Amino acid sequence: MNINPYATIAQLSQGLAEKQFTSRELTEAYLARIDLLNPAIGAYLTITKETALAAADASDLRRQAGQTLSSLDGIPMALDDVFSTAGIPTTCASAIMAGYIPPYDATVWRLLKEKGAVLLGKTNLDEFAIGSSSENSAYGPIHNPFDLERTPGGSSGGSAAAVAAGLAGYSLGSDTGGAVRQPAAFCGLVGLKPTYGLLSRHGMISPASSMDQPGIFAAAIGDCALILAALDSLDPADSISVKREAKSYGHLLGQSVAGMKIGLPQEYFGKETQPEIAAQIRAAARELAAQGAKILEISLPHTAAALFAYYILTSAEASSNLACHDGVQYGLRLEEDNIYETYRATRSAGFGPEVKRRIILGTYLLSAGYYQVYYQKAMQIRTLVRRDFDQAFQNCDCLLTPVTPSTAFKPGEKKNDPLAIYKSDIYTAAPSLAGLPAISLPYGLIEGLPCGAQLISPPFAEDRLLQIGAALEQKRLLPQDLD
Ligand code: GLN
Repeated sequence: MNINPYATIAQLSQGLAEKQFTSRELTEAYLARIDLLNPAIGAYLTITKETALAAADASDLRRQAGQTLSSLDGIPMALDDVFSTAGIPTTCASAIMAGYIPPYDATVWRLLKEKGAVLLGKTNLDEFAIGSSSENSAYGPIHNPFDLERTPGGSSGGSAAAVAAGLAGYSLGSDTGGAVRQPAAFCGLVGLKPTYGLLSRHGMISPASSMDQPGIFAAAIGDCALILAALDSLDPADSISVKREAKSYGHLLGQSVAGMKIGLPQEYFGKETQPEIAAQIRAAARELAAQGAKILEISLPHTAAALFAYYILTSAEASSNLACHDGVQYGLRLEEDNIYETYRATRSAGFGPEVKRRIILGTYLLSAGYYQVYYQKAMQIRTLVRRDFDQAFQNCDCLLTPVTPSTAFKPGEKKNDPLAIYKSDIYTAAPSLAGLPAISLPYGLIEGLPCGAQLISPPFAEDRLLQIGAALEQKRLLPQDLD
């Protein structure tokens, strides 16, 4: 039996089909690796060993009976701890959720279960999916498998680190303004944020409802297509779920990109961007050009304002979304003399500093005196940002940009300067404001650290994004010093 923890879903699925190993053996191999490496990486908060082995056995029985459910059947995977899992603790990496066990499954997890997925555990993150460095977890920081001294990015850093270190075949995270794309870039993975409305947010606890989408971490583009096809389903439980025709998402993979028009927005190559990253992305553009694509230099003039609008809107939404954590309905409750003191004591002890900062900022921004100055203005900027993209897509099939202005940084480097850390979302926040799909692809190493390229497309063109991504796909990057 030869199990490669860095294999793609397609390879693992083939191994299962050819009886090279069973799902139980595969699951045991991942669990053993988690025991070995998770203490140093901090990717998992909860390891669901018993239920994983039971799910693997059920998958093996189905396979023996010729009733395999899908190519995801029997493949071990991980879920960011913002996804509700019936009977399994869901913490959002927050002390205020301590003891909370959801009574129902998030839709995306239910859909994966129906396809035979084996859940290895729930992964660590920045508290309530707020942050860019995985330093804001109540349960300790997460380390980047490519360099344990560096952050894996955030907020979905645990889901990224788990796949990058070979501790899961694939994983899900949540992406509001980059929390899947940025960690994917820092950890050498494919990370997809689908079009707003494509995947159900039902049961996904995250901060800013007008932008949040479940996202996918995978080792390869083909894997990403398989997972997306499994998750794409109209959900009456999510008011923004959009009905479309079913797609396979993999049907364009391998087709030529000749004749496609790829835009390079000049604002994404400014002085904030590490020159080596800009050079890599330009090299990616040349690679597409060599395959017959046409490269167009374009402008998205409201890019700089987009970041401010993003932080204003998401803080405002977070202050409202997180108001339900009051010591009455969920998790932690610190009993005081009256209800107001109980709220105060519970929130004061239960929320971490970054979450408090966003709640206070958001409450201020929504106050009667400032609503028009900040919130309304940010909504106007959001419209301008969307128009920038609409205009760009009149001439371009897709845009190519860096994912992040730098490669993975060290924890603590920006911790005392929230604005510096907010700036690391400069290239991922604008597509989120516009609700667009975007994918982060590994594109080479810079001084041993992965570099990510971002592709952004018009709404619901994920199949094209994956096609163009496949044209740039390289051999999987592996962390060198882990094993
Ligand atoms: N870093 C961004 C923030 O802190 C995005 C996080 C996310 O996408 N969930 O808001």
